[in-house]
Amino acid sequence: MDLKADRFLDLFPDLIATLDRDGRFLYANPAFARLSGQGHEDLIGRHFSRVIRAADRPIANARLAAAGSLQSVARFDARLETTKGEHSRLRWTVQPDPDAHVLYVVGHAARETFEEGELLRIAVEASPCAMIVVDQQGLLTKVNQATEQLFGYGPGELIGQPVEVLVPEHQRSDHTAQRQQFQTEAGSRPMGRGRDLMGRKRDGSVFPVEVGLSRVFTSRGEYVLGAVVDLTVRKETEQRIASQAHELAEANARLSEMASTDSLTNLWNRRSFVEQLGIQLETALRNSRPLSVLILDTDHFKPYNDNYGHLAGDVVLQQVAKILRGSARRSDYVARLGGEEFGVISPETTSGGAIRVGERFRGAIEAASWPRRSVTASVGATTVHHPKDAWRAEPPSYSSVLAEADKALYYSKEHGRNRVTHLHEMLQ
Ligand code: GH3
Ligand code: MG
Ligand code: MG
Repeated sequence: MDLKADRFLDLFPDLIATLDRDGRFLYANPAFARLSGQGHEDLIGRHFSRVIRAADRPIANARLAAAGSLQSVARFDARLETTKGEHSRLRWTVQPDPDAHVLYVVGHAARETFEEGELLRIAVEASPCAMIVVDQQGLLTKVNQATEQLFGYGPGELIGQPVEVLVPEHQRSDHTAQRQQFQTEAGSRPMGRGRDLMGRKRDGSVFPVEVGLSRVFTSRGEYVLGAVVDLTVRKETEQRIASQAHELAEANARLSEMASTDSLTNLWNRRSFVEQLGIQLETALRNSRPLSVLILDTDHFKPYNDNYGHLAGDVVLQQVAKILRGSARRSDYVARLGGEEFGVISPETTSGGAIRVGERFRGAIEAASWPRRSVTASVGATTVHHPKDAWRAEPPSYSSVLAEADKALYYSKEHGRNRVTHLHEMLQ
């Protein structure tokens, strides 16, 4: 029967060797040569311990000797030294053959294994987040380097201190009470969810944190394992985003101010109105043509808002705007001057014409059907006929014209509202 023992030794991925009584290589399989980085010929005659990392040689030698003298199987972990200076941890089995006076050796890759406690220690130490272990008295029994760095302490300085040193002074008594309560509860949970938790550094400065807690039961008693995450950067980012949003809103408000139309009513806005008034006034005066300006203000509008809400008020303003646009001539320039106040520039319009235009607006608003209660408006008008109109001391400017219309509007308000007043009527 051909057992193909040679093929087996050639192909097997684990390390297989035969050693003489003294532990010198008589044979090594190709995997052995490959992993150790040595030629087969170089291995033959060398002592087994030469392929073992120096630190692990004592245990390897002791186990080889024991296997030989006791004639029993030996198992041990030892690292293979390669010519490249690397090493891999292997689990070795040594089987003595009393008849042939040799040792058969097999080495295969061993997983790193840890005791549970050791695993926790490694996990805590390797964590990039601050981890602390607190005993039942509330004393820090273990902290990792990330904790010391985050809170500004030197190595080992925190051990044995109450966990409250990591908490701002004014929150310490609360913290102690909550800690004691937590220790009687089951399970794990984030600490103070929804609250703004703060940590305290050694220099007294405080910073926002998030904390996760778990109760841990060990053979030496019960502990609380805490993970502390520094939220400084996150909070700063949140604040930056909020302030950027605020700046953006302000910029948008400035932009819409700069724009020429009013976003609620789509009429021209005050800025455009004033600009247009300047242009039209200049043309009218140069050509000695009449030009009228009307200002219209919704009556008792504040109570409307107060009673039916601002949104209902906005609807009224939109409807007033629509009525004004519908009642105005094509050449009229209709704008919302602000709030519940509207302005109309009427070129080629005398004072008589301005009163008729104003009446048309006033009447249309009064006659319209309104959802909540009747809505009326008061109108003030003025007219420029000539640069040297008798009643003016100075040539009119856009601001003096607006002031005149405003004065007439005030008169309408004072005399019962829902009416039109022209400045000329007041002067007569
Ligand atoms: P008056 O007859 O004397 O004009 O009385 P009034 O209540 O209309 O005048 P007042 O100046 O006291 O109030 C104007 C109100 O207009 C104040 C505010 O509630 C309302 N208002 C101003 N702008 C807006 C707006 O854009 N939307 C809404 N809904 N209301 C506005
Ligand atoms: Mg008003
Ligand atoms: Mg007003």
